[in-house]
Amino acid sequence: MSAPSSHDTDLGLQARAEMAVRGVAIDPDPAPAGRVTDLGSSIPLRRPGGAGPSADGHVLVDGLKTTVPIVADSPFRLRGGRLVRNDPGGGITDMGVAVETVDRPAFYDLRTADGVSYEQIARLHGNDVLASTVVQTCVRYGEADRCRFCAIEQSLRTGATTAVKTPEQLAEVAEAAVRLDGVRQMVLTTGTSNGRDRGARHLVRCVRVIKAAVPGLPVQVQCEPPAPDDLAVLTELHEAGADAIGIHVESLDDEVRRRWMPGKATVPLAQYRLAWDEAVRVFGPNTVSTYLIVGLGEDPDELVAGAAGLIAGGVYPFVVPYRPIPGTLAFDDGVPGPDPALLADVTARVAAELRGSGMRGSDQAAGCAACGACSALSAAGG
Ligand code: SF4
Repeated sequence: MSAPSSHDTDLGLQARAEMAVRGVAIDPDPAPAGRVTDLGSSIPLRRPGGAGPSADGHVLVDGLKTTVPIVADSPFRLRGGRLVRNDPGGGITDMGVAVETVDRPAFYDLRTADGVSYEQIARLHGNDVLASTVVQTCVRYGEADRCRFCAIEQSLRTGATTAVKTPEQLAEVAEAAVRLDGVRQMVLTTGTSNGRDRGARHLVRCVRVIKAAVPGLPVQVQCEPPAPDDLAVLTELHEAGADAIGIHVESLDDEVRRRWMPGKATVPLAQYRLAWDEAVRVFGPNTVSTYLIVGLGEDPDELVAGAAGLIAGGVYPFVVPYRPIPGTLAFDDGVPGPDPALLADVTARVAAELRGSGMRGSDQAAGCAACGACSALSAAGG
């Protein structure tokens, strides 16, 4: 193994981007439940599928929460608590950073009184984020409408989760996860419903009961933009106790939206802008975020310009790579992840915009921007 040079001791944005796209290879058998390991290349905390960027492992790279795809032929590997890269010439390069894995949390082994495993209700993301998809079905999941990168109903089919989580179940799990595993924030997302609120009112009920049970736990909610005549539900979410909100557009390019998200693309961008503006008015600047996915074919300059416009309006653009996730339409079509150099470039430029506006993900109380694991933005100072 080559010794790390001083240059190697900082895992640069380019290498982080490469790892985010190429993933890490791991041993075929993950560590047994409950075992702490940073000795080999196992990752005990993994997410087999679900909403958003899933099919990943959760690690801490130099202390920063990071989700990495598990890819059998990735040049990256964990070895002795370090990230190493197999070089084409057969050598192994220590990338100069410590990688800690995250233990399987204790709350996963508990069950509700009616026999539902806590693990089916909410999952640990990183080392301190509790995340749940409160309604695991989506009105847009028919094959003609479905977002091509999403696997929300996949984990339902495999029995890894339940279709609808009740407020009481979520509060029970949240209380245990805070007490037993040191969870510090919670993310609640939802599949889209047919109602004008797009599922936000179930989130209102969930937040209210969670906050009553665990008042100090910051909560972010995520949903599609409510219909323009039902934007009041954003105030209801805030009044229920939600600290932050994600209204995720994924791309600002209508042609990309129609191709990748035929169902969601029927909601005009103008409706997103109305919802973002109202959310910023209600929740405050830098409490509202959206995902922007690199690798869907959007022009990078337009993506960065769009991100700058969002930032100017107080909305945090959470830049993530497209990830081919088993169970998605794009995966079936063999669509590859983006060029790591493109991801690094876009991430660096959006991070610079964020820094220029004094907007940091870590200033948000809860949510993906606060967690940062699925993006390289926080490593780039955003
Ligand atoms: S960024 Fe969001 S989806 Fe990714 S691990 Fe963190 S909370 Fe989960």
